[in-house]
Amino acid sequence: MSRILIVEDEESIAELEKDYLELSGFEVEIENRGDTGLARALAEDFDLFILDLMLPGVDGFEICKKIRKEKDTPVLMVSAKKDDIDKIHGLGLGADDYITKPFSPSELVARVKAHLSRYERLVGGVQKKNEIIEIRGLKIDKTARRVFINGVEKNFTTKEFDLLTFLASNPNRVFTKEELFSNIWDMESLGDIATVTVHIKKIREKIEADTSKPQYIETIWGVGYRFKV
Ligand code: CA
Repeated sequence: MSRILIVEDEESIAELEKDYLELSGFEVEIENRGDTGLARALAEDFDLFILDLMLPGVDGFEICKKIRKEKDTPVLMVSAKKDDIDKIHGLGLGADDYITKPFSPSELVARVKAHLSRYERLVGGVQKKNEIIEIRGLKIDKTARRVFINGVEKNFTTKEFDLLTFLASNPNRVFTKEELFSNIWDMESLGDIATVTVHIKKIREKIEADTSKPQYIETIWGVGYRFKV
């Protein structure tokens, strides 16, 4: 759940913003002073800040500037005067957006949602790239644990997926059935190397066009298996 900090000295406005944001599923905290608001903004993890401009202690301009030195978290400035907007621009504070009072609560919620999803896409783009193996028509998404053949998804059991991914991650290397068994199944597992043979057969049925002439997993007679690239 996204966490939002509102720094606003007019309590009725702060409460109104909080009510609407909570109705939309956000977790909301309020600080009524600029100095305490700034301290929390820097010390805690929030997903978005809503800052009033005129505040006791430290004003919204200063808070925004200090937040920007340390965080990329979206900042939405709230002002009572149109003149303030020019000042926000002029100071180059790095605020993501501003909204003038009086505003409709639904407009505030819409702006908050837009900034949060943009920020999540930005952060997500760096952190959450799926690890994918692609060989000819076979695509293995290691992160999502999904397998596709020519764009069509195939259902894999956990061990089938682990075995295929292990082989495909170590291409052109021959593994004995014993090696595969010890890598994919933990030592306590019941079963033996015949389990490997059974799983290879099932994987081939899913990924090979013709299981009698496998294009991906090759049998090396008397030794084991090799993933061909
Ligand atoms: Ca104020």
